[in-house]
Amino acid sequence: MHERLIIAGPCAAESEDQVMKSTEAAAARGINVVRMSLWKPRTKPGFDGVGEKGIPWLINVSEMGLTPATEVMFPSHAEATVNAIIKNTSGRIILWLGSRNQNHLIQQDISRVIAGEPRVMLMIKNQPWRDEAHWEGIVDHVLSGGAKEEQLLLCHRGFAPGSNELRNSPDYAMALRLKLKRNLPVILDSSHIGGSVKNVLAVSKQGMQYRENGVGFDGLMVEVHPNPKEALTDSKQQLDWQTLDQLLTELY
Ligand code: PEP
Ligand code: MN
Repeated sequence: MHERLIIAGPCAAESEDQVMKSTEAAAARGINVVRMSLWKPRTKPGFDGVGEKGIPWLINVSEMGLTPATEVMFPSHAEATVNAIIKNTSGRIILWLGSRNQNHLIQQDISRVIAGEPRVMLMIKNQPWRDEAHWEGIVDHVLSGGAKEEQLLLCHRGFAPGSNELRNSPDYAMALRLKLKRNLPVILDSSHIGGSVKNVLAVSKQGMQYRENGVGFDGLMVEVHPNPKEALTDSKQQLDWQTLDQLLTELY
């Protein structure tokens, strides 16, 4: 497979069995990073993620030789996940700041928790509204908390409102401009742009082929669930593993 970062796995970690199935499916495909968010920002009250109950699952994934990836909404989430991986394993973890987490004091405090820990990466998603300076400002807030540039990664998840049937509207050119300006890798979250399986496939292809001055995305984050129909969150947009196989064959 092409040397590009692929993060694949369920929108939300739901059970130990679901996480283990996802990890085995990822490993069988040579995908090294498993998405398995323990916390879920929600538009309306509902399933908020399994929270700290899922921390042993992160350790299991790491012991299986893969890297878990989860959103952290509070500094305490970063502390719990980073400690679990650093103290119990020799592996790595990818955390992300979600699009709705726009309190800069929280951004700085999460950065403080991960500062200088080379086994922890922090992915910075764009905020929901279209504003390049704001997205770049999150990078600055995070750096002011102490995280090193080498620990950071950008992630483009589109901007509200959606258009052309998409859940969110992509601005590939903006994401790639920021990559060049700040010298940070940027990956594409085609799931939260697409909003449906058909659109996720189309956006993944369109986005990964997009070039701005010869520069493209460094990877892809896609939601993949062992049984998408039963998913507790974002069931309409999660691929099954066979569909991901077809997509990756077309892409790489
Ligand atoms: C997510 O990736 O789980 C998510 C909630 O996405 P976003 O913050 O981009 O809406
Ligand atoms: Mn989701």
